[in-house]
Amino acid sequence: MALAGVWGHLLPALKADLELLLGSNGDANMEGALIARDKVGVQDFVLLDSHTSEAAFLNNLRKRYQENLIYTYIGSLLVSVNPYQELDIYTVTQMQLYRGVNFFELPPHLYAIADNAYRVMCNEYNNHFILISGESGAGKTEASKKILQYYAVTCPTTEQLQTVRDRLLLSNPVLEAFGNAKTLRNDNSSRFGKYMDIQFDFKGAPVGGHILSYLIEKSRVVHQNHGERNFHIFYQLLEGGDKDLLCWLGLERNPQKYTYLIQGRCAKVFSINDKNDWKIVRKAFSIIDFTEKDIEHLFGIVASVLHLGNIQFEEDSNEVCSDALRCLSSLGYLYFQVLSPLNVDLAFYARDAVAKAIYGRTFTWLVNKINGSLANKVGFFFEQFCINYCNEKLQQLLIEMTLKAEQEEYELEGIEWEPIPYFNNKIICDLVEQKHKGIISILDEECLRPGEATDLSFLEKLEEKVGDHAHFVTRKLADQKTRKSIDWVDFRLLHYAGEVTYCAVGFLEKNNDLLYRNLKEVLCNSKNSIMRDCFLLSELDNRRRPETVATQFKNSLTSLIEILMSKEPSYIRCIKPNENKEPGKFDDFLIRHQVKYLGLMEHLRVRRAGFAYRRKYELFLQRYKSLCPATWPHWHGPAAEGVERLIKHIGYKPEEYKLGRTKIFIRFPKTLFATEDAFEYRKHLLSKAPVPLVWDRGAWGSLFLLEAFWRGALARRAAKKRTWAVQTIRKFINGFINRKKPLCPENRDFVRLSQYYYLMKLRDHLPKNVLDESWLQPPSILEEVRVSGGFGRGGGGSCLVAMCVHICKGLSFSHQLQQKVVTSAVFSGKKEGYLESLGQPFLETRLSEFSKPLEASLAGVEMLIPTRCFQYVTPVIKYDRNGFKARERLLVLTQSSAYVVEMAKIKQKIEYSTLKGISTSNLSDGIVVIHVPEDNKQKVGNWDTAPVSWCLK
Ligand code: ADP
Ligand code: MG
Repeated sequence: MALAGVWGHLLPALKADLELLLGSNGDANMEGALIARDKVGVQDFVLLDSHTSEAAFLNNLRKRYQENLIYTYIGSLLVSVNPYQELDIYTVTQMQLYRGVNFFELPPHLYAIADNAYRVMCNEYNNHFILISGESGAGKTEASKKILQYYAVTCPTTEQLQTVRDRLLLSNPVLEAFGNAKTLRNDNSSRFGKYMDIQFDFKGAPVGGHILSYLIEKSRVVHQNHGERNFHIFYQLLEGGDKDLLCWLGLERNPQKYTYLIQGRCAKVFSINDKNDWKIVRKAFSIIDFTEKDIEHLFGIVASVLHLGNIQFEEDSNEVCSDALRCLSSLGYLYFQVLSPLNVDLAFYARDAVAKAIYGRTFTWLVNKINGSLANKVGFFFEQFCINYCNEKLQQLLIEMTLKAEQEEYELEGIEWEPIPYFNNKIICDLVEQKHKGIISILDEECLRPGEATDLSFLEKLEEKVGDHAHFVTRKLADQKTRKSIDWVDFRLLHYAGEVTYCAVGFLEKNNDLLYRNLKEVLCNSKNSIMRDCFLLSELDNRRRPETVATQFKNSLTSLIEILMSKEPSYIRCIKPNENKEPGKFDDFLIRHQVKYLGLMEHLRVRRAGFAYRRKYELFLQRYKSLCPATWPHWHGPAAEGVERLIKHIGYKPEEYKLGRTKIFIRFPKTLFATEDAFEYRKHLLSKAPVPLVWDRGAWGSLFLLEAFWRGALARRAAKKRTWAVQTIRKFINGFINRKKPLCPENRDFVRLSQYYYLMKLRDHLPKNVLDESWLQPPSILEEVRVSGGFGRGGGGSCLVAMCVHICKGLSFSHQLQQKVVTSAVFSGKKEGYLESLGQPFLETRLSEFSKPLEASLAGVEMLIPTRCFQYVTPVIKYDRNGFKARERLLVLTQSSAYVVEMAKIKQKIEYSTLKGISTSNLSDGIVVIHVPEDNKQKVGNWDTAPVSWCLK
């Protein structure tokens, strides 16, 4: 699957840049939004009643734009109008929404195009491209970035994906720093064409990718129009580079010092933060695997261009180039003197040529470094000529592919193909590119022929060879009226989108793109490794003439078209709504112009020439079956026959539709609208039908009734939840307002909540021991807790317990259970004796765990008390009443008495009948006191039994 490119610059009269990404065909549905069409227009232009009317087209676009609906389809083509404001439609939630959903089920969106292309690719194992075009500032770059983000988020993740994603996403800031600039139209205008390619594996995970770049606008390096800047990187380096770096490069921070940076008189722009961007670029470099050496060399080159720009020449200097060379030598170039018989103008020309060549090739190197690529280089009117030629080719591709797709569908559906008249721009493409006869061939011939060729002789050749072409005019060939608007050095082409006049001056020179051999030699011998990669020594040996720029461009364009022809297309057309980058402003004049040159009306005409709407029988029947008694509520036969019955019943005329193999084709939108309106009315009727009537109608009636009840139940449930939410919020606010008052119904819950949060916080800040008085300061609302001595020495625990109890009071059983779980999380591991407080009854009271001596002592007792009489036996510690000396004993319980035993001797026997009572400690010390009457001779003292659980039970 492939992504493709931007021609981000240019063209006063005819500017169509493009950015190309992967994608595929899709069929747009519109039913969903038909209901709101009065307010927001139709979401697919094919549903416009008067599809040939430009006014209706603009009207629809405007309606939608004013509702912030920036996307509209023409079939599967997406028209996008730059909103110039952040819209909330690019969130991850939105991405998930569009993921895997049918193209026509949701409103038009970039994501629908991206997702559709991706899914068709996965299902059909074929390649796709998405072509994004529009003039500078229309939103192409943003669209391509958003599509990449969409794939980054929604495609299956693999380790490789991380690399691909990083490469494609992070190479962007670097490419933009070196390839983008502020222009009058766009503060971040891409000044190069871009073709991005993403490769997916058979599971649909991205596993590779690369970027091709075309046509970096080198002339910007040495010249900028008023209000425009040079490439961002120059300003970023000066603004963001640290002192040491600038010092090493011999640069000053002030851009005003550099001739190449100040011609547009806007080195500093409010909307651009060069310092920040510098940081992003530096970071991106490190992530996309540039070594420190690479980076050092790269900035060395950027700096050398700035230094070059400051070189001046004087009339009487006869060593003009040597100054330039001296400058280069200071930046690590080999320096040797060359005597050149150049005058001042030529010296400036040579200087600028070096700067452009260095920058242009470095940019190519940069793109190559990011991945394998090819690149081209051009100039100004000449450049405009190349771009318009490119647009011409892509327009041809679009129309051909749309026609082809239409034709294929008709064939597939068994519908007769009706030829569609359209403007075929092949005639203009031929005029430019035809071998021997086309403008490029004539230009090359003029460049290559011996003798004094000039731009004027080129113009004459044009007049001679293509003078009779219907789309070509010069002043000489023009009639009286048009003659006035064409200069002697101009020629005019009638492009599909309108006329453009080109000044032929400079065509020869730019097509040759010559760099003086001696300067080339210097660059080939540079110590800077990037320069040596860009200017190969073998280039000096090669005596063959290099290919001219126009031919290189033509070849790369042909291979691009070849790539595209092998893939399934999707198109995004970007429109710029006004010149001021203002949100909400819809400039009719400007937009009409773009609609024209983007070929949108032509596309719509082709798309609509046959049928405005087509849909699979099943889907059509599903939606409209209620309009015909024979198909409602169920149609049991084949869907095609059902649709036939249905449309007969609602009275479609034969010329309004055609029935294909799997789809119904409807010719006019008004037929569809009438059907849709009838459907709306029908829905309304059905929902209002009285209940008994509904019952009478049988199964479908009960279905409606059920649905109504269920909806009612859901609505009531939702309403209840909302009421509860309102009350809770109100209570919270009331509590907050009254928080300083004594406890009252208004603040009770709020205080309780504060207590809860305080406790939760406290769990992480519990005092380390009983002497630690550093209790967490309670909030003022809980002041009484502190004042009442709560957290002082000794009292802290009990107050806290009271608070916990207070909070737990009134909680239901399940709440208490929850509370216990929370408490466990709070105190687990923090409270000594925690485990003991979670007693496991009798676990440690078994004789098997006794020590050997005790076992022995028990063995003795068995002689006195038969084992079968034992009810329970446990080791205990007996404390003497005088002095509390601890003594190990066994306590044996039988059915009628308790025995205290030591070493096979019964020390005491207490009959239960004489017992006065038993007391247990309420602490976890395991103390039990057995009370016996005073007069009992066998008096018993205190017992401390080891197993806690037993004592407490
Ligand atoms: P292009 O590449 O066509 O020259 P950009 O994509 O750079 O134009 O867009 C120019 C400016 O328009 C962006 O910097 C951004 O401010 C704004 N823009 C473009 N598309 C959108 C969008 N979808 N949402 C918000 N702003 C946008
Ligand atoms: Mg751009």
